[in-house]
Amino acid sequence: AAKREGRAVYQFANAAMNAAALERLQLESGLRRAIETNALRLEYQPLVELASGRIVGAEALCRWDHPKRGPVPPAVFIPVAEDSGLIEALGGWVLRTATRQLRAWHDAGHAELMMAVNLSARQFQRGIVLQQVEDALVEADIPAEKLELELTESVLLHDGEAVMAVLRRLKALGVKLSMDDFGTGYSSLAYLRRFKFDKIKIDQSFVRDMIDDPDNAAIVRGIISLALSLGLDVLAEGVEDETVATRLRHWQCTFAQGYHFARPMRPEAFIERLRGG
Ligand code: C2E
Ligand code: MG
Ligand code: MG
Ligand code: MG
Repeated sequence: AAKREGRAVYQFANAAMNAAALERLQLESGLRRAIETNALRLEYQPLVELASGRIVGAEALCRWDHPKRGPVPPAVFIPVAEDSGLIEALGGWVLRTATRQLRAWHDAGHAELMMAVNLSARQFQRGIVLQQVEDALVEADIPAEKLELELTESVLLHDGEAVMAVLRRLKALGVKLSMDDFGTGYSSLAYLRRFKFDKIKIDQSFVRDMIDDPDNAAIVRGIISLALSLGLDVLAEGVEDETVATRLRHWQCTFAQGYHFARPMRPEAFIERLRGG
């Protein structure tokens, strides 16, 4: 009986695994088609200067509206893109689209705005990202310092030397580097220095309940003062109410992002917001 049971469990696990693998394959081929047919789109979430409340730029966030499944969150499709290698094509499209959008905002009289784009570790593996960034800047005629690349700490762990070389050349172009989700990974302070990051983005998990959780409050406050004493900009992610915004302002945090200010928006809504709507 035990043997039969064991076999049943094995078959069940096997079937579940096949279902997961099939799901993955379907997502992958759907994503490939979406990239080829230009069916992905970007939303833009305002980045706000806390002292003035001014919008200083936007973070581009990729969206996939699947014809049958509806919206697929980036937390689901970005890992699929990374594992399948599709991230190189996807990443190139994101860079071109976001810089083109920034060009349109600059032309509409908002030449002070910057654009932040997320990059995955996988985009550094073959170093193609460097050419993609250069091409996007040239095509859209955007000054390099108006483009900020958001990396997580995992990027730096991958292949020290190769990644370092690409980052150095990106910095030489004049683009800004931002450490995303700070506090969740290894948070090596040496990395911040070595790779000449310009900005730290404090992960939303610390920011969201910093009012009720003294440990999180201490972490957020500590990261802000660390950033400022290193001469870096600092942004708090996931600001959802005024109490948090007020506290952050009090702690001299430079920038914020979150539903309290604005959700990620379609381009039409973003320009509306810039016009004061
Ligand atoms: P991220 O770079 O940390 O982006 C911030 C995420 O927080 C976004 O989720 C945004 O919608 C969400 N968010 C912003 N404000 C708030 C808030 O006040 N409360 C809450 N609960 N959430 C807030 P989203 O758009 O689902 O993206 C998730 C992640 O997917 C991003 O995290 C980023 O790591 C990745 N991602 C998105 N677009 C791209 C892309 O074009 N390329 C790459 N490589 N990764 C991307
Ligand atoms: Mg980001
Ligand atoms: Mg983040
Ligand atoms: Mg994140």
